[in-house]
Order: sequence, then structure tokens, then C-alpha cells
Amino acid sequence: MKTIIEPFKIKSVEPIRFTTKEERKEILKNAGYNPFLIHADDVLIDLLTDSGTSAMSSEQWSGIMKGDESYAGAKSFYRFESAVKKITGDKFIIPTHQGRAAEKILFSVIGGKGKYFAANTFFDTTRANIEFTGAEAFDLLNEIGKHPEIRAPFKGDMDVDALESFIKKYGRENIPLVVLTVTNNSGGGQPVSMKNIREVSAICKKNNIPLFLDACRFAENAYFIKLREEGYQNKSVLEICQEMFSYADGSTMSAKKDALVNIGGWLSLNDEELAMKCRNLLIVTEGFVTYGGLAGRDLEAIAQGLEEVVDEHYLQYRIRSIEYLGEKLISNGIPIIEPPGGHAIYIDAKRFAPHIPVDQFPGQSVTCAIYEEGGIRACEIGSVMFGKYDKNGKLIPAMMELVRLAIPRRVYTQSHIDYVAEVIIEVFKNRDKLKGFEIVYEAPMLRHFTAKFREIN
Ligand SMILES: *Cc1c(COP(=O)(O)O)cnc(C)c1O
Repeated sequence: MKTIIEPFKIKSVEPIRFTTKEERKEILKNAGYNPFLIHADDVLIDLLTDSGTSAMSSEQWSGIMKGDESYAGAKSFYRFESAVKKITGDKFIIPTHQGRAAEKILFSVIGGKGKYFAANTFFDTTRANIEFTGAEAFDLLNEIGKHPEIRAPFKGDMDVDALESFIKKYGRENIPLVVLTVTNNSGGGQPVSMKNIREVSAICKKNNIPLFLDACRFAENAYFIKLREEGYQNKSVLEICQEMFSYADGSTMSAKKDALVNIGGWLSLNDEELAMKCRNLLIVTEGFVTYGGLAGRDLEAIAQGLEEVVDEHYLQYRIRSIEYLGEKLISNGIPIIEPPGGHAIYIDAKRFAPHIPVDQFPGQSVTCAIYEEGGIRACEIGSVMFGKYDKNGKLIPAMMELVRLAIPRRVYTQSHIDYVAEVIIEVFKNRDKLKGFEIVYEAPMLRHFTAKFREIN
């Protein structure tokens, strides 16, 4: 059959609240034109993030009841540990309350002034946790990944020549590790090929630098490898995941993504000395080594989620539903990063609203317009999130001005997606009327979460 269906039945439903366009205008104004500050109750379809927004399965909910809440050595920890080991093959599995807690611990131990880190693209919290220690973080994305309009199978790949030069420039002794973000969230949810993982791993090994995966979307990445990379069509997604992790020395993970839960994460690694240092810090900041900031029930739900996420019916539906939205937008002339990524569609706001200069945040403008038009919440990933200032206070723009429509896992059906497309097509028809924005308040770090804006007339 040609029709790909949602591979689940719905057992429990949550009503969504409708608002009028007039109400939404007011809501936006009160939120300082920052969708992060809108109450979720005022959102019809929430595509702000795919993080922690998954619908759990009945097996996961029954795992919640089975969770062992013993302080130390809980049964749920051992189930969690063995589920993570099955995928990563790593020796030491450290549970954390989410991905950034794993990052905070790892980079506190190995970071610091005079240290240099490289990735295909660092996610914002990863970069922030590195820079917070005084170290520097560099994105070495492959050239093709920087061109939203070019269709290529693995636009998340790292530029291996740039990695070699980076190591020469900064010295292997000053580079505590290299990161591959799979899939590349900030770069459009684009996958990294097995070939690239293998090559990056070889360069790292040659220079005695550990390679870590920022593994948040490891299953989506593995499914793309199965679909697109020669030699993987007949391998199971689980086998592909295991091969991906086999080239790395460890991983940081947000279980809020591909573990299909609402909270959780891990740090996994093979280096015993480093693991001990990280565990010591874990005890200070997160909790004891067998729960690390999570309840036993959360560990149970993650373990179950890791089994479900490598199911190929699930992944087929998942990847196809993103592609379906992408195709609808493309066929209406809307510029997006092509091909569609694994968890989200990224609208190219520079081409959507070319009349808005980059220092007036075209991505923010499109994001606000989509909310106003149809109550859909999206997320700017551009110069609001990644822009910096030079010495004279002039904006150094981000590489791209994007609007991310992140699709929560197992939450929305095809008709929700059809509605989303209809709203965006409507905004696109009236794109000439979109206005630029200026920032009236911003925090010194991760400003996009709390910034406030004013429309420029
Ligand atoms: C979400 C995410 C993180 C951080 O994880 P949290 O659970 O939100 O702290 C790190 N890296 C990538 C690629 C992510 O998508």
C-alpha cells in the first residue's frame, strides 16, 4: 500500500484550545513577540520543539507504574543501563536529568580556558556549556550543509579537511574531544553519513582525541543511513545505531528526543578515569550514580522508549510525516532547507522575507506571523539564537536565518500537518507585509529564551 499510516491507535486525548486572530495579536504583544514566552494554553499546534514533547506508549506508561524508586541500585536503573549499553556499547552509563546536564558535567571536567572543541555544528546548549568553562567551540560543517537550497543526502557531515587543519592549528593536546551531532539539529536536522562518522573517527584516533556523539536523534540518523547510504539497506536500524556508536568513545544524550520520553538524558563513555570524575560531579549536581536527577519511573520509560524508537514502522512514519509537510511547502514555493530533515522543517527566512534585513531578524518575523495567522508556535534559529555582537555592538549574524517547525513524536496526525501547511502558505502569500523586529531586552547567554522584541514600523 502507498499510504503510510500512523503506526498506533490513540487511547488518551488532550483537547487543544482555539483562539481568534485578534486574541493572538494581543497574546504576542504581551509575550514581547517571543514565542517562548507565550502560554502553551494559547497555542493551537505547538511546533516550538520536539524536545520532551513526545507521546509515550501504553508500555511506557505501565513502566511508569513499575518504576523502582530505591535510592541506590534500583531495578529500573539496571534496565535503563542495559538498554543504553545495547545501543551505545559504552562501558559507563551515567543518567542525567536532560542532555545539557550531561554536557555540563562532561565539559566542566574536560573544558576550560585554552581548550578548543570542534563539531559538525554544536547545538546551542552544548556550545554554551563549552564557552561557560572558558573554552572555545568551532563548527566545521561540510560546505554543502551551508546551502539550504541544495539537495544532498548527508548535509550534516563534518568537513574532514577542516578538522585536520583545526587539529594542526590548535594542537591535539588542547583539543579534549570532537563532537558529531546526529542528526545535526542546528544545521537543519540533516543526517551524518556512516562514512563521515568513520572518517572523523579515524582522524580523531590518529591524533589521540576522543570522538563523542551528541546522540539526541541517533535513531532518525540511522534510518536516513538505511534509506540513503549504500550498503545499509538490509541492515536493521538497531545494527546501524550500534555501528554509529562503535566509532565513538562516548555520547551525550537528551532522552527528550529519540528516547520518546518527557525528561531524561545520559552521558556514556568508555574512559574509566573520566567516568569517575564525571560521576563525582554528578553526585554533587544531579544525584547518586544510579538515578542522576531522574526518578526510577523515568529510567523505566527511557529503557522502553529506546526499544520503540528503533522500530522501523515508527521511523518510516516519523521521517515521512516531516517530508510530507516539506513537500507541501516546497510545492507552494516556500523556501525550506532541502531535503527535509529528520525532526523538523526549517523555513529559510532570508528567502521567505528578503525585504527584512538580517539585523531585523527575519526569522523572528516569520515565527510571529505564523503564530498570529494560525496559532502555530515555531522557533527562530537564526541571529536571535546565534547572533553575536562585535566590539562596536554591531550584530554578527548567524550563518542562516531559519524558522524551525519541530514535529513532536507521535503527537499530531496528518490533518494537523495539513493545517500547518495551510497556515504557512497563507502567511507566505502576504509575506510583503511582514515587518522587522528589534530587541528591547536580552540576557547575556542563550538570549532567545527570554528576549523581548519590538516591531519596526
Ligand atoms: C536538545 C538537544 C540538546 C540538549 O538537550 P536537553 O535535554 O534539552 O538539555 C543537546 N544537543 C542537541 C543536538 C539537542 O537537540
